[in-house]
Amino acid sequence: MTLNREDYLLVIWEYIESFDKVSEKELATRLGISPPTAHEYLIKLSEDGLVDKDGKKISFTSAGRNAALKLVRMHRISEVFAYRFLEISWEDTHAAVMELEHIFSGDRGEKLFKNLGYPDSCPHGNPTDPDIKIREVPLSIAPEGKYQIKRIVFEDRGLLRELASIDAIPGTQVQVIRGDDLRIENQNGELKIPYNITMSLRLYK
Ligand SMILES: [Zn+2]
Repeated sequence: MTLNREDYLLVIWEYIESFDKVSEKELATRLGISPPTAHEYLIKLSEDGLVDKDGKKISFTSAGRNAALKLVRMHRISEVFAYRFLEISWEDTHAAVMELEHIFSGDRGEKLFKNLGYPDSCPHGNPTDPDIKIREVPLSIAPEGKYQIKRIVFEDRGLLRELASIDAIPGTQVQVIRGDDLRIENQNGELKIPYNITMSLRLYK
């Protein structure tokens, strides 16, 4: 698969929304490319006025943010389609639509959205209106207690697979346990969530 600008913008969005920041190294790892390639592409995105690079800090310009917003929206709508109609598993939909979402854009995308019944969110709970404000607490700072899972912002296949193994999907209840590590528990079992991704698991009371 050849990577294009859309793939870069989508991953930058995903990191910033999940963790408030993104590095060249993370971008490279997530896209399966070398750090120098990521570096070069970021320079190109910045020359095109889509990304601001201030030393190591990478952020969107407003033009970049607007472009990413449309892609993220189509990604999430395409996931609903793949999950409901192609019977792709909950943990695999993110990866499965990486190609599909490029086909659904503009008018086609809006028709798909309408025919899906205007879904509020993707199967992982992320809103199809990516700009909407959400009441939620990241697992990283959630005190011990009972919560519902709101969404998984960083749609990492490994994390999704683990969550799926105990059916910890959006709308289900979990108990947060804080000890030497951060764990969530439900009637099906218990999971230790690696600290570096606890910020991307969002809960609500
Ligand atoms: Zn999703």
